[in-house]
Amino acid sequence: MLLEKIEALKGQISNLKAENEEALEALRIKYLSKKGEISELFSEFRSVPPEQKREFGQKLNELKTLATDKINTLRDSFKAKEKEAHKIDITRPAMPDEIGTRHPISLVRKEIIDIFSRLGFTLSEGPEVEDDWHVFSALNFAADHPARDMQDTFFINQDPDDVKRNIILRSHTSSVQVRTMERQQPPIRIICPGRVYRNEAITARAHCFFHQIEGLYIDKHVTFADLKQVLLYFAQELFGKDTKIRLRPSYFPFTEPSAEMDVSCMLCGGKGCGFCKHTGWVEILGCGMVDPNVLKASGIDPDVYSGYAFGLGIERITNLKYMVKDLRMFSENDVRFLDEFEAAH
Ligand SMILES: [Zn+2]
Repeated sequence: MLLEKIEALKGQISNLKAENEEALEALRIKYLSKKGEISELFSEFRSVPPEQKREFGQKLNELKTLATDKINTLRDSFKAKEKEAHKIDITRPAMPDEIGTRHPISLVRKEIIDIFSRLGFTLSEGPEVEDDWHVFSALNFAADHPARDMQDTFFINQDPDDVKRNIILRSHTSSVQVRTMERQQPPIRIICPGRVYRNEAITARAHCFFHQIEGLYIDKHVTFADLKQVLLYFAQELFGKDTKIRLRPSYFPFTEPSAEMDVSCMLCGGKGCGFCKHTGWVEILGCGMVDPNVLKASGIDPDVYSGYAFGLGIERITNLKYMVKDLRMFSENDVRFLDEFEAAH
């Protein structure tokens, strides 16, 4: 009886198959666990007559070894299959490397800095969180100037009694010019790029932050003619040798006289087109001779020194160079937009 059971189980176990590891584990429990079929045979073994114990014992042990080996072999085959599945296929085509591109603002910023570097301007940078003195007071803004208004400027800390103690997000990079003038005597020839903030509604044409580059040159005998020549060189380097410039009178608190500069339209060459509203000119920057009050405020003697300053928006220049129609594109991090500039390095 017991012998028959052993033979029957031997037959079953030799042909064991399992679909997966769970099925295999079920088989292990069925045959080899404490309450499994083979263990039960071991309990029955106690009732076998002593003279047959040796033979049955041997057969039972063989059966147990057979079952253990079979289950181990099946388990190994699963492990081998799994390993195979994770093997790296070195014949597969490589995934393309996404190396990214420079942001258009960075490209134009670098281009502008490069042009002024060739003229001997050095790079100067300053903090974005500024005090009123460096952004307004030292630059000849009257205490009631509208630029100080809540509508135009972001305040970090506002002193109701004294505007000069306000802490603000700088609304232009002229603050870096003031910091440089405070630190050193002329000659000063710097270019100051940086992010600036204004309390504006965000639209295609305006944003609450943008980037400026300002330039400052102070030395003995600096004249408006020097300014004009430097700006002409700059415009031709940036937009091409045939570019013309024109200066229109304007007003800024920190320069006197002040001017806005236009360049001949890069699309029609000055003939007039839809882009330049048929004027032939496109406005790109503001400039002027540094107001003597500004020099005095920073400890530079206006009777000895004179200088010019200019400032432009990097977004504005980028729009003109690459025909970007919506300012918001610059800060949305849309990779499809950024990829457009891959060739522009
Ligand atoms: Zn035009």
